[in-house]
Amino acid sequence: MASCTAPPDGAMKACSADHTDLMKVGEHGGITLIIRSKDYFPVLEKILKEVPLEALKAEMRWKMIRNSAVYLSSDFIDLMVKMNDDLYGVSQKSPRPRKCYYSTTSNTPWPAAKLYTDKAFHQENREAALEMLEKIRGRFMQNLEHEDWMSAEDRKAAQEKLRKMFFQVAWPTDKEGKTHWPVETFDMDGHMGPDFFVNYMTVSRFSIQRDLGRILEKPDRREWGGSSSLDVNAFYGPNNNGLWIPAGILQPPFFDATYPEARNFGSIGCVLGHEMSHGFDDNGRQFDARGELHDWWDQETVHNFAERSSCIANLFDGYAVANRHVNGKLTLGEDIADAGGLKFAYEAFITSKERRSYEKRMFFTAFAQTWCSVVRKKSAVNSVLTDTHAPAKFRVLGALSQFAPFAEAFQCPAGSPMAPIRRCQLW
Ligand SMILES: [Zn+2]
Repeated sequence: MASCTAPPDGAMKACSADHTDLMKVGEHGGITLIIRSKDYFPVLEKILKEVPLEALKAEMRWKMIRNSAVYLSSDFIDLMVKMNDDLYGVSQKSPRPRKCYYSTTSNTPWPAAKLYTDKAFHQENREAALEMLEKIRGRFMQNLEHEDWMSAEDRKAAQEKLRKMFFQVAWPTDKEGKTHWPVETFDMDGHMGPDFFVNYMTVSRFSIQRDLGRILEKPDRREWGGSSSLDVNAFYGPNNNGLWIPAGILQPPFFDATYPEARNFGSIGCVLGHEMSHGFDDNGRQFDARGELHDWWDQETVHNFAERSSCIANLFDGYAVANRHVNGKLTLGEDIADAGGLKFAYEAFITSKERRSYEKRMFFTAFAQTWCSVVRKKSAVNSVLTDTHAPAKFRVLGALSQFAPFAEAFQCPAGSPMAPIRRCQLW
């Protein structure tokens, strides 16, 4: 069964004969495979049987060329530019520095992440973020004590879930919290050469090899999946009950150990609280402390949750871009997370020290500035239809108008748009 294609000089070999585990997949008594898209394989099989072999070969050749063109000479790249101009109206070649940055960080994210955290990342930002996370968790925990719309048992179970939530901050760590770089940080050492295309092939082959090797391994709950320390983003995993806060977001303008606390809590603090609250939004709440999907709330609590969250959904239904209304049900999870994040970060901020009124205003300003962005109208309309996040402007207005301390800090008169008489209140 050994079928092995000869790789270009320097690239490692990856042959099907090396993967005997793969042969057992799906066989009787073999390895069980979880298929997320049930409809895909019957259709694929039909295509493979019915489409002429030459057409399939041509399609595969084309895919190979399209994916590799950007790593080849200008003959290939110029053709791609022409095609992208036709398809997307993008007629510019990527400037060289941009291309170097993206090709390195997308193909070898972990070696690049290690370089970044070793050489450029402010190490003290990690400690400060961990400390902030614990403060925010503490506030959420205390709030749960008083959620009288939940049964006492469900409150306890929610606290247990929050207690068990693990944090991956800046870079990967193991169960004990010790630094634990994934294998792809180092396994390509010594395999990279001066040829850009060969390096690309080598990286692809290593990645396939690693994935196949994982078939029999137990999943690691703390694994970073498709993200790395380089991402300017943050994630909550409902199946793992874990938080991932890459080093990339623990830097200005979101955070710096030298910034005033008001600014840090208002910006990164709310992001951390947001991710934490995802564990208790309309989707995350269905998973328990271990990340398992089942009903762990009683009927009454579920009913009250639905009632309180529909207030938030209705609020966002009322927002519109160019006459297109936000779909409050679609954005509900994010809106719940925004409201929770804002509240717990703010409470952590004001309870950790005496705060002056200008500091409170700075907190809210930092929160709003996190979402400051420029969007074309067409793109905004598109995201109203497809994005699970409401447009940035409404995320700011929606969250702040429902949070009474904002109106107090800026002395908005009761009944004005940012100080409604009735507010939505979930967490
Ligand atoms: Zn989110």
